[in-house]
Amino acid sequence: MATLFISDLHLHPSRPAILAGFLGFLEQQQGRAEAIYILGDLFEAWIGDDDPEPVYAPVRAGLRRCVSAGTPVYVMRGNRDFLIGERFGNESGCRLIADPTRIELYGVPTLLMHGDALCTDDRDYQAMRQRLRDPHWQRQVLALPVAARRELATRARELSTFSNQNKDEHIMDVNQDEVLRTIRARCVDLLIHGHTHRPAAHRLQLGERQVTRIDLGNWYSAGRALVVDAAGWRWLEVDCPG
Ligand code: MN
Repeated sequence: MATLFISDLHLHPSRPAILAGFLGFLEQQQGRAEAIYILGDLFEAWIGDDDPEPVYAPVRAGLRRCVSAGTPVYVMRGNRDFLIGERFGNESGCRLIADPTRIELYGVPTLLMHGDALCTDDRDYQAMRQRLRDPHWQRQVLALPVAARRELATRARELSTFSNQNKDEHIMDVNQDEVLRTIRARCVDLLIHGHTHRPAAHRLQLGERQVTRIDLGNWYSAGRALVVDAAGWRWLEVDCPG
């Protein structure tokens, strides 16, 4: 049995192929995988668990089937879907996990993160992250009507695209010192995260120790999962028809 990790699917009504690919992936893995971890940005935007958007109904149903078949699904909130709440957890059967979360992965102490907290070179972004995570602000936003929240989300996406166009590539990547500091502070040998959309495995030297950072990558043109079992890890390509 293996444990699977995915992130940054950015599911959205405008991306039916990725949506179909994800539902196929769940169907293929349900009852087979030991567990599935979704490390943030499952959705391109999430305006609250009460969003009646019909495209997300089969996502909840697919997740529920997977969990019922014996494969627990763990969901971490990302910077796009930070408003995912308990209601989504109940309706999908997924268990919401904190960012970061530490697990034992076949004997390897492992830290799971979305990854945006590691991008400390992007100071504007970190300041905004702080504001968006404020529970008081979140409650105020969730009290707005659905239409007003959808409008806010559209504007936030436009703003983010615009500001990222004017940033250097390295600014939006993880900060190496922050990565090493985090791995050392949490006493892990493996760090798995998403967010940067740069899929790769990095070997790092931490004093005497060799540690590993795995960046999961996005599902924009094709799907990809990290498969970990007692023997090691590998990538699994996920077919996204259409
Ligand atoms: Mn992200």
